[in-house]
Formats: sequence, structure tokens, C-alpha cells
Amino acid sequence: MYQTLPVRIIPTSQQEELLWILSEKCRLLYNFALAERKDAYSNGMKISYIKQQNDLPNTKKQYPEYKWVYSKVLQSVLKRLDANYKSFFSLKRNCDENARPPKYRGVDYFFTMTYNQSGFEITDSKSNKIAYNSTDTTNYLYGADKPEYTEDDEVFISFSHNHPSGLELKFGLPAKILYDRILRVADEIAQVGIYQKKDGGYYLSITYNVPCLDFKHNDKYLAMDIGVNKHTMVDSDGNLREMINKRPDKYREPKIQQIQSRLDHCKRYSKKWYRLKRNLNRMKQKSSNQLKDFQHKKTRNIVDNTDASVIIIGDLSAKQMASSKKGDKKSDKSTHRGTHNSGYIGRFAQFLAYKSLRVGKRIIEIDESYTSQDCCNCGYRQKMPLYERNYNCPYCRQSMDRDKNSAIVIMERYLRQNALWTGYQHFTDNLRQTGLLIGMITQSLPG
Ligand SMILES: [Zn+2]
Repeated sequence: MYQTLPVRIIPTSQQEELLWILSEKCRLLYNFALAERKDAYSNGMKISYIKQQNDLPNTKKQYPEYKWVYSKVLQSVLKRLDANYKSFFSLKRNCDENARPPKYRGVDYFFTMTYNQSGFEITDSKSNKIAYNSTDTTNYLYGADKPEYTEDDEVFISFSHNHPSGLELKFGLPAKILYDRILRVADEIAQVGIYQKKDGGYYLSITYNVPCLDFKHNDKYLAMDIGVNKHTMVDSDGNLREMINKRPDKYREPKIQQIQSRLDHCKRYSKKWYRLKRNLNRMKQKSSNQLKDFQHKKTRNIVDNTDASVIIIGDLSAKQMASSKKGDKKSDKSTHRGTHNSGYIGRFAQFLAYKSLRVGKRIIEIDESYTSQDCCNCGYRQKMPLYERNYNCPYCRQSMDRDKNSAIVIMERYLRQNALWTGYQHFTDNLRQTGLLIGMITQSLPG
């Protein structure tokens, strides 16, 4: 399974200059190849990626400066153009009104340089090679010994180029993060891209492969109700567990809003405006990184702490997000944002899915409609406004936290839909032992 890790690099001013020189060559090649294609199309002809790639040696002969760029990086420029055209044509075929053909890239556009399979090398502080191409296993160097990296340790990544300056494009990366996220688990670093973000900083996107364990079914399940404020889980043994969402990104929000409002009152494109804009982007970046880290920790914690081989979650596309208090304006607002920002929940599910895959577990999404409205004991359905935190069933008198009820309903629904009756029996028996009303109707419908 391929994954990508973005890491910031801090080039010296000479390195930055060189990055721009190389990126400029990529940009020119892109525009050149684009013009060639446009020309051909307007004459009723087509030019393929293969044709353009085969022309590269000629181009380099004619304009030797293109040789400065590592050859596979040049190829990836043409590949990108090809991909952009493909997606344009496929949108057009589907009659998408937003379909626009690829555009020329302007002078101040930093062209992302992609090193695929080769042209980069990772070394440690003792110049031991850790990774240099795809056939190399990235973690062999360590063997069974886990290196002890501190927050300050670095490994180095260097990129090939043929610029006459001979300047080294070598950047320090945080060793601990790289080790934890990539070197410890990956068997291949497939690709590294160098790009610039809106905040002006330079980043690498490192794409690596993590081998997945085979799925082994052990007839144990974990059902989850994923929410904005907390996640609620129940396993087939009837254990209920809650995980509170602290949303560490919220901490920066007042400050971000403050800067945003100053920016709104500032003259557009003035010096101050640019400074504030840059500040704002940086702050937003930090905040979103923090949230991502938090989500990584939480999802790892969930996957590591269950023996279930199947994790069942609701299909989140239709989910209504819960707020904490009735009539609380502030929480209404943040709920709205939570709903709006469903990307947050979606990413949580995504993290959960790939962490599960890695260790040979499986995530299954089921239809979540009514899971918050149905009683987990008798199946009675009632409207449950978001502020109602407790599920009180008027029919069987079950009374419990609404999210716990949902989690149980999700589990029951999955087991029933798949006719896993032994599992269903096991689950309800275990829940009953925790003192919950399950599978028992004690009262008739009032009135
Ligand atoms: Zn009931």
C-alpha cells in the first residue's frame, strides 16, 4: 500500500536558486510540450506521451541546458502533462462543465520536480546509505536494532542534477519522524517530489510502500460510531469504550480568526497584507499538522488496542454531526463547521483503514441511516435531535448514551445483514452480562 509523507526542507539561498533554475527548465518543457500538443490538436492530429518522451534526447541536444535536470524528472514533466490531458478528456467525455484543458505555467510557478524510483539517496549522519532506489529495502540497514533517534537527529536526502555549479542538493530531515513513519515500516521508497507550498516553504512528498499483512479472520468484530466530539466503540465481547476528541487544532482557532479579520481590514496586496497572509498560512498549516498527528495517534491506538479482525464503521457520507448542548450558539456554530468540515472525519476513517490494512485487519463501512434513531434492544425508531445525548426508549425502557446505542446498532446490523448468527448471539449474550437490556422486551408500548 502506497502512502505519502510531506516533509519540510529548508534550502540555503544558493540551493533555493538552483531549485528554481531546475524547476524553470521543467516549466519550460511543460509549456513547450503543451504548445506542441495544442498545435497538433488544432490540426486534427494527436501527440502521445511516448512520442514526446522519444523526442527528449533531441530536445536536449538542441538545448543542452535541459540536461541540467535529472532525466527521469524531465520525463515526469511530460507524464504530468499527459495525465492532465487524460483527466481533461475524461471530464469532457462525462460532459463536466468544469473541464478545462491544461494551462501554460507562468514564470513564478514553482514546478514540482518528481524523482521516480531513482535520482535520490538517503544517508544517515555517518554517511551510511539508507535508501537509494526502489530495489533497495529501506530498513535492512537497521536489522533488528532499532536506532535511538532523538528529536534533533537528522538523516539526509540528496537529489541528482547536472547543473554546472555542482551544488549539492542535500537536505536534512528529522530522523525520528522519518524512521517512525517510513524507514521502520516501508519496504520501498517509490518516489520523492520537491514542491513549494503557498506559505513559500519547500517540501518533499515522499511516497513509500508499506507491505500489508494478509487478512486473517478471527470472528471478532469492533463496531464504531465515529463522531466529532468522541468515538464510541463496542467489540464482540460486549466491551464498550469511548475516545474523546480533543481537536488540538481548535486551540489555534481564535488566533487564526484574529489574523484573518486583520487581513480582511487590510489593503489588498499591500506589504502588510502579504505579511499577514503568510502568517495566516503558516498558522493554518501548523494547526492542520497538529490535527493530523493527533488523528494518527488515535487511529493507531484503536487498531493496536483491539483483537478484532474486522472493524465496522458507518458510511460517513450521510452522517449528521452531534453537538454537545442544546441551544448553545457557540456549539451550534462549531457543529456546523464540523459538518461542513466533514473532511476531518473522512480522513480519520481513511487513517483507520490503512492502519488496519497494514496489520491484516479490515474496515467495513455499512449503511448508517437510522443507527442513532433505532433502539439497540427492541428496534423501536424515534427522532433523535442532535442535542439529545441519551437514548431513552419509550417502548422497552432502555436508557443509555446515544453514541453507545449507535455503536451497538452498527454491530447488530452488520452481524444480522451478514447472517452471522453465532456472532450475533455471542455479542448480545455478552452485552446482557454487562447489565444492558438486549434481546429482551420488558414493556409494551405506552398509550
Ligand atoms: Zn427499545
